[in-house]
Amino acid sequence: MSVMSDLSYQSIRSANQAREADEVKTDSRKKNLLILVLNYLSEAGYRESAQALSKETNIDISRYEVCDNIDLDTILMEYESYYFVKFARYPKITKRLTTQSAGVSGRGGKGSLTRSSSVKINSTPQLPKIPQTARPPSPPPRPRSGTGSKNVTRKPPINAANGNVQQNTNGNQSQSQSNGDGLALQGLTVQGLQNNHSDTNTHSNTPAKPRNKPGQIIDIRAMITDATRMNAEEGCDSTDRVLKPLGGYVGYSSEWRELAQVISRDIYSHNPNVKWDDIIGLDEAKRLVKEAVVYPIKYPQLFRGILSPWKGLLLYGPPGTGKTLLAKAVATECNTTFFNISASSIVSKWRGDSEKLVRVLFELARFHAPSTIFLDELESLMSIRGSQSGGGEHEGSRRMKTELLVQMDGLAKTDDLVFLLAASNLPWELDHAMLRRLEKRILVDMPTLDARKSMLHHFLPPIVNPGEGDLELLSELDYDLLASKTDGYSGSDIKLLCKEAAMRPVRKIFAALEGHSEGELLHIRLDTITTKDVLCALERTKPSAKLLKPKYDAWQKEYESV
Ligand code: ADP
Repeated sequence: MSVMSDLSYQSIRSANQAREADEVKTDSRKKNLLILVLNYLSEAGYRESAQALSKETNIDISRYEVCDNIDLDTILMEYESYYFVKFARYPKITKRLTTQSAGVSGRGGKGSLTRSSSVKINSTPQLPKIPQTARPPSPPPRPRSGTGSKNVTRKPPINAANGNVQQNTNGNQSQSQSNGDGLALQGLTVQGLQNNHSDTNTHSNTPAKPRNKPGQIIDIRAMITDATRMNAEEGCDSTDRVLKPLGGYVGYSSEWRELAQVISRDIYSHNPNVKWDDIIGLDEAKRLVKEAVVYPIKYPQLFRGILSPWKGLLLYGPPGTGKTLLAKAVATECNTTFFNISASSIVSKWRGDSEKLVRVLFELARFHAPSTIFLDELESLMSIRGSQSGGGEHEGSRRMKTELLVQMDGLAKTDDLVFLLAASNLPWELDHAMLRRLEKRILVDMPTLDARKSMLHHFLPPIVNPGEGDLELLSELDYDLLASKTDGYSGSDIKLLCKEAAMRPVRKIFAALEGHSEGELLHIRLDTITTKDVLCALERTKPSAKLLKPKYDAWQKEYESV
């Protein structure tokens, strides 16, 4: 009897000891991890975050030291090589959430919602949807990273090739249908046309991606990216910029920090995802921008001495011709810190102190170098000095202009990789001293005939909106005729025109939808967008900047520098 109780006592005790040892081990691992994180943060200069963490965890980092030859970097590297040896590929450590799901998690959504990262969340309330009787084979849902297939929403089923709006009567099947993201309206589904994706590519206007040519220089970076599977398509956040911590900037005052924070908000932390190929036409402007901004950063060894890179470039031309698009392509294609500053916001945000704001802007740009500062609407910042109405220019504004000129001179004197890209719709209003410092001045002109044709094709291809879940429309257009009729229209005018033309067939069904009463059978045909639709829209939209053309030409003759 006593032997028995001894034994069971023994086993209980050792089980308890084992559990306690396990807990101690877990606790100490947690603590080690926090100390490693703290150490990582302070070594990398994220001092404020380190302090906050230290306070929150009650760990006084000054009382601990991370042992030799160990830190988070090393641990991660070793884990990667261990994984590579074991599975012949690198581990995926993080993955990007889609915008919608990030929004949901940001708002503190429920756990289940935050996990289903690829669920498309409709902004319109979910309405009951009557199922279709016949469902043609739908294309397989596009694979998205990291989510269960059960959450993938599908295209609404399609009934007929003619694109009808139909009321469905077979209500008892509604449970078996997923809540598709087609246009679901009180017992109605609206579809454009048969979703035949197989032929969409044949009309695609996007040029094929260039293939590797023989004799091409091997791109080591691409190889590494490939090896570690860290490319953007897989959803890794390698395209997002990680900013250097401001804590690494010595000697800043609290005022400096406040201004730095204002400007930091205008840094593109996400890739704007505009490729050179997304910009239609403007070949010369693209070439010049690449030469002036992209290549010096990519191949610095080629830009020395007399070839030292340009420090300032002005994109001027009518509104809506793609100046901002070019700047976004720069931000996408070269991996610099990109400050996207609208000049009018400098003036309005920091009226009295805008001169300080300019100084901090350039300091920050140097700190985060290589950097590109994009100053949009430059004329609102750098109009000809003393030219303002009544001649009484505001003292603060004068000081700010001087500061901008001083900073530009500063750039010219140093090797810092900081570049100013400015855009203006009204270049003749610009201060001459500023113009001199913008060494390259490039006209971003109205689209040519060919470019207009490509734009029309781009915005209204034969199948419009072939994306998942969108209402699809057909178009049948005489692109040559329309291109010739749109002389004087800017890129954004053409975009608007196409939108207006695409609205016409859709508009026709609104009245029917509004007037339709529950239970009634409804057949509406979504018409194809025709050349006539675009011509009608053309009559109602006028080119926004045609009248200014002679002024740009005259200015170009005098000041262009390419
Ligand atoms: P701005 O010259 O006034 O900066 P944007 O670059 O902002 O004009 O262009 C406005 C919109 O017009 C763009 O978002 C784009 O949709 C369209 N657009 C203008 N020019 C082009 C172009 N060359 N290629 C493609 N889209 C263009």
